[in-house]
Amino acid sequence: MNKTVKNLLQVVAAIGVIAVATLVNCHLKMRPGSHLTFCKSHLKDIGTAMEAYSTDFSEKYPSNLDQLVPKYLKALPECEAAGKVSYKLYTGQGPANNPGYEDYYYLECHGQNHSDSGIRGHYPAYDGISGLLERP
Ligand SMILES: [Zn+2]
Repeated sequence: MNKTVKNLLQVVAAIGVIAVATLVNCHLKMRPGSHLTFCKSHLKDIGTAMEAYSTDFSEKYPSNLDQLVPKYLKALPECEAAGKVSYKLYTGQGPANNPGYEDYYYLECHGQNHSDSGIRGHYPAYDGISGLLERP
């Protein structure tokens, strides 16, 4: 084998190693579990903003998530699994507010965004009483 062909094969092998390493790295970043971790973190951030808002508005929660922007949140976060802002807010009386609290909110990642993590329904969710709810 002449030297030029040998050098060429070495370069091709090196490119192959880099390509495989890049693919593995992308795959790790896109694990469904990491989407879920980010989503739960977004819910906690929105929950913290809800509490800050209620402190400023005589213990009342906003009726719409847009009321949190930009003072309490720079922007509404996107759920990475949904690829969009998927968070839905429920306040006041309703099916989620089972005990009938006067001031209550329930936040959910709306849609079947985390079914690849084994989570069905509009979860994870977060409420002002229980905190983070991963499953029903
Ligand atoms: Zn989500």
